[in-house]
Amino acid sequence: MTDQLGYEVFLNQGPLQTTGLLPNGELRRFSPIASTLIRGRKQAVLTDPGFTITQADALAEWVAGKDVDVTDIVITHGHGDHWFAADVLADWFGARIVASPGTIAQMHANAAARRLLWDTVYDDIPPSPVTAVPVPDNTLTLEGHELRIVDVGQTDIDDSTVLHVPDLGLVVAGDVIYNGAHQYVGSALGPDGFGPWRDAIAKVEALRPRRIVAGHQNRLGDDAVRTIAGTRRYLDVAEEFLRTKPTALDYFTAMIERYPDYAGRLILWAGAGVQYGVREPSGIDRLKVVVSAWQ
Ligand SMILES: [Zn+2]
Repeated sequence: MTDQLGYEVFLNQGPLQTTGLLPNGELRRFSPIASTLIRGRKQAVLTDPGFTITQADALAEWVAGKDVDVTDIVITHGHGDHWFAADVLADWFGARIVASPGTIAQMHANAAARRLLWDTVYDDIPPSPVTAVPVPDNTLTLEGHELRIVDVGQTDIDDSTVLHVPDLGLVVAGDVIYNGAHQYVGSALGPDGFGPWRDAIAKVEALRPRRIVAGHQNRLGDDAVRTIAGTRRYLDVAEEFLRTKPTALDYFTAMIERYPDYAGRLILWAGAGVQYGVREPSGIDRLKVVVSAWQ
């Protein structure tokens, strides 16, 4: 039956922020975001549709050319960049939005943070009501094939999930696995550091996927072994530089030197801002630190 199932990836460009520059003078552009279309003969499931009207338009046009009926839109985790445009796409296709209960809770938190965080630097985000629903056993079907939402815990956000498609040997990994893009390190602030994220990667590996679609990538292909190894190595390097580089700017510069081809330097800088910001005496107010790191 596998020959009736396939997948394709659409990579949407990240939007520019409305103000400011990175410390090296570059524009503040968000990482590219990957949406995966898992398709049967007539029906399809779409993942993580992005967060701006421009991205929604580009994705809708791409999907419309595929001649399939999108039944469900799966959101892998609560970060707004993966789903603020979901309702627009769901309306367009008459689709249901699906996520784990943990992700739905995180979506509400991100929606509540829009005014303070997202809307201060992006002018193109549509209304984003949380209309996602959970599904029994975190499992949905596409023309008889099972698609499983797998809870993996904290990565660059709490309550992360991946979408496992056993019949394709595929994992759609959201922010658990990255591919040629800077990983957001601003959420790993607990005493265990990147420990929970490493545990989550092991849970993905245990699914024995052949292909992994990373949520943020620069189109280097979907090989599971390589993307898992790259994500682990990045955490090792980040951990070392966070320990040895005295300032956020030193960390930012060192990471760019180590990963000159990676997309998402805005995400690199924001993550550094949070990691170094919480070390300051004023860093006790984590919300303030996070907001200023993104602006
Ligand atoms: Zn993300």
